[in-house]
Amino acid sequence: MRNLTCIVCPMGCSLTVEEGASGTDGLPSLSVMGNRCPRGAAYAQEEIRAPRRVVTATCGVQGGTPGLYAPRRVPVKTVAACPREKIPALLADIYQTQVSLPVKAGDTVIANWKGEGINVVAVRTLM
Ligand code: SF4
Repeated sequence: MRNLTCIVCPMGCSLTVEEGASGTDGLPSLSVMGNRCPRGAAYAQEEIRAPRRVVTATCGVQGGTPGLYAPRRVPVKTVAACPREKIPALLADIYQTQVSLPVKAGDTVIANWKGEGINVVAVRTLM
């Protein structure tokens, strides 16, 4: 048995997940309780079988106006959630990426990272 808090909406339902017998795919069936809507069951299934997270970080910047308040890094985030086991490799690539200024919020910084369909975008406009 495993307890989770659903993070899909602000209700934050407390979920209890119990494993059942293995199915034809070799994976145990999961019985989810405590969810007030089907999204909670889907969240619990994904969280246990293939957890994913939206990743936030910063990239270095090149160019821009030099000076005391010149930006050194730009905050970025993934548009789609990344499989949790791949987050360290994604962060390593993000931290090595240098973004040329100016950059606008929403600009793609890394497109389709390693063919995973994960785009990394700037979340702040910097000149
Ligand atoms: S189970 Fe449904 S109602 Fe409850 S937190 Fe998740 S999404 Fe919201």
